[in-house]
Amino acid sequence: EQKSAKYKRILLKLSGEALMGELDFGIDPKVLDRMALEIAQLRGLGVQVGLVIGGGNLFRGKALSEAGLDRVAGDHMGMLATVMNALAMRDALERSNMPTRVMSAIPMSGVVDHYDRRSAIRALNQGDVVIFSAGTGNPFFTTDSAACLRGIEINADLVLKATNVDGVYTADPKKDPTAEKYDLLTYSEVLEKQLGVMDLTAIVLAQDHDMPLRVYNMNDTGVLGRLMTGGDHGTLIVS
Ligand code: UDP
Repeated sequence: EQKSAKYKRILLKLSGEALMGELDFGIDPKVLDRMALEIAQLRGLGVQVGLVIGGGNLFRGKALSEAGLDRVAGDHMGMLATVMNALAMRDALERSNMPTRVMSAIPMSGVVDHYDRRSAIRALNQGDVVIFSAGTGNPFFTTDSAACLRGIEINADLVLKATNVDGVYTADPKKDPTAEKYDLLTYSEVLEKQLGVMDLTAIVLAQDHDMPLRVYNMNDTGVLGRLMTGGDHGTLIVS
């Protein structure tokens, strides 16, 4: 039986680290192909997909500045890293026959399109996957904030954050065996308890604009498709 999707348009945030797979640095093509399959399921259900990709597998401004580099230069490098990841992801999506547009918050003529909200929405309506790269285009922000920002701008029904754990826990489940998973949280609980779900700027932005967030385990095959048809996985964060 064909199930229909609960959501019309989603914004999916993939961290750079997610693309690294088992590697220590860079991009694992196997992960890209697996993500492409997951995204194909979403498109099969008629869900429009926007993607924000991080850059932490290559460069992070904060880490570079701790090593002595100027912070703003480091953040610019981090944003450029997200464009590289976006190009790799586009390649995997197009090999799986999904037309994909990459947009960058930093103009990069001849490589990718400059971010434009209205053309992004047109592309999504046509069924293209749209990858929003270069974060917000500003230093001192993260791609989590970019995901919430773009999600709000394109009127997504949900912002999803892919992680390597099953959701948000009371403590780090990899370090603390007594950690318990939350099924549902409010933005204020995340802020008060300082749960390391997303950076606080991203949470506050989502709260201000009532954008529901869901944190889920990306290693769970088929989970995105199941989530779209009413399955309950991970942690939902709402007001
Ligand atoms: N970055 C930035 N502004 C943004 C988004 C990202 O300066 O709007 C930089 C920042 O240095 C960040 C790096 O790009 O560390 C990579 O992004 P992020 O750390 O969010 O990637 P992820 O952790 O998701 O892989």
